[in-house]
Amino acid sequence: MTVDEGDVRTTSGQGGPALPDERRTHARAHVVLPAYNEAASLPPLLTRLAEVAPAGKIVAWVVDDGSSDGTADVVAGGWPGLDLRLVSHPVNLGLGQAVQSGLRAALAEADEHDVVVVMDADDTHDPALIRDLEREIAAGADVVICSRFVDGGTDATAPPLRRLLSRGAAVLFRRVLRVHGVRDCTSGFRAYRASLLARAAAHWGERLIEERGFACMVELLLKLRHCRPVVTEVPLALRYDRKRGPSKIRIARTVWQYGKLLVRDRLSPAPYRSL
Ligand SMILES: [Mg+2]
Repeated sequence: MTVDEGDVRTTSGQGGPALPDERRTHARAHVVLPAYNEAASLPPLLTRLAEVAPAGKIVAWVVDDGSSDGTADVVAGGWPGLDLRLVSHPVNLGLGQAVQSGLRAALAEADEHDVVVVMDADDTHDPALIRDLEREIAAGADVVICSRFVDGGTDATAPPLRRLLSRGAAVLFRRVLRVHGVRDCTSGFRAYRASLLARAAAHWGERLIEERGFACMVELLLKLRHCRPVVTEVPLALRYDRKRGPSKIRIARTVWQYGKLLVRDRLSPAPYRSL
């Protein structure tokens, strides 16, 4: 599934797309929100997002991944103070393809100076952190991860099994892969310099994200490391207490996907030329 096959439409906006010369002088944050049955969580999240969005500076891309609970209807009505777009998957394709569709839609409109943020739509990630992410990118980072495992970060509100999975994956990937600067490689809340993502997307095309499930976040990091990015982390205090719906992560399946991803990464040759 590519964005070209999907239905991408603008449902609301603050004056529509910016003019090309405006884009050059006013970098924007494109916030990609993969959403599967998040109709209850989206309203408070979009309200918080609108609060941190100065006029025209944030474009929110909600990817409705074949939801059955009216997630698309929440977005279709637009949101006050937010330039809100809807990307629709007619059927559920999984988190990996949801992120891929959102990134492609955002990149199709992003300026090279823009920032692309991906965050959960379950309202456990605080949009106020987007300002910190933009600051890090402006200071020279190419990828910024909202990390539960640096000073000031915490996942104390999450269930024990969920915390164990994140910690186990963090230790494993840190030991095996040694991606410099990364403690929380499975975090779903990150920012990317748009020009870096565009370079990676030009190389990998449809294969930028091949994982269908939650391992996609690690996969993207592994592919981007071939672009030699500067990666930094900012503290993330996960707000699991705000989560309304049930968790969608399947822990056993995700562990299996992490294992497969590791093996595949080990066996895949590095890109022929530097990216
Ligand atoms: Mg979540």
